[in-house]
Amino acid sequence: MIQTKALRFSYPNGPALAFPDVDVPQGSLLLLSGPSGCGKSTWLALVAALMAPSSGALTVAQQVLSTLKNVAADAWRARVIGFLPQKLHLSTALTVQQNLMMAQWASGQPEDPRRIAAALQALGVHELADRKPGQLSGGQAQRVALARAVLMQPRIILADEPTASLDDEAAADAVHLLLHSASLHRATLVIATHDARVAGLIPRNPEGKTGFQSLRLQRS
Ligand code: ADP
Ligand code: MG
Repeated sequence: MIQTKALRFSYPNGPALAFPDVDVPQGSLLLLSGPSGCGKSTWLALVAALMAPSSGALTVAQQVLSTLKNVAADAWRARVIGFLPQKLHLSTALTVQQNLMMAQWASGQPEDPRRIAAALQALGVHELADRKPGQLSGGQAQRVALARAVLMQPRIILADEPTASLDDEAAADAVHLLLHSASLHRATLVIATHDARVAGLIPRNPEGKTGFQSLRLQRS
């Protein structure tokens, strides 16, 4: 589902990053770990076709990413990738409901309030649909962002530091919700984190997961 080969990325005026090869089967879980600054968020951005690698090859959901160009990449991403960014990027001017509607539009699908209601319901935040993000607790906002990420039933869910700034209980909850959402949608799940607690929160046989692997990046 995600295959990388000799993947490298250099930021202009920044570090040159080299990534170990991975082959992540469909429906499985990848834990991408390593210290802050080792390149986890960069790796996610490459897999989501938000940036192009400096060299190397990347095949994601049968798509060779180097053949995707801008507009096509946006449409592909909206269809295939559910992204849970570290900063949730919920639009503060819009209600929860409207934030999810934006995701529906972005994927080129017609408005479907029932789908939005179901996604919010599945994450236990249905009653918050008319609130604005500023009226949510951190945990609630993250559930909303996760509902948005899985709304279009993406084949791949990418979560960037999903437990950052959460206490132990909320962190366990976040990991559980990710695993549960991914298994509901039979999605491949990548959790990128420098949080040492996360590995211990992943059950030995994650629910509905066809496999589990861990990739630890080093600082270059
Ligand atoms: P992680 O998510 O593991 O903390 P990142 O992928 O965010 O790591 O960053 C990897 C390295 O690239 C770090 O050294 C970081 O400072 C650097 N970096 C990230 N974004 C940029 C950028 N836009 N310009 C220059 N350097 C960057
Ligand atoms: Mg990061």
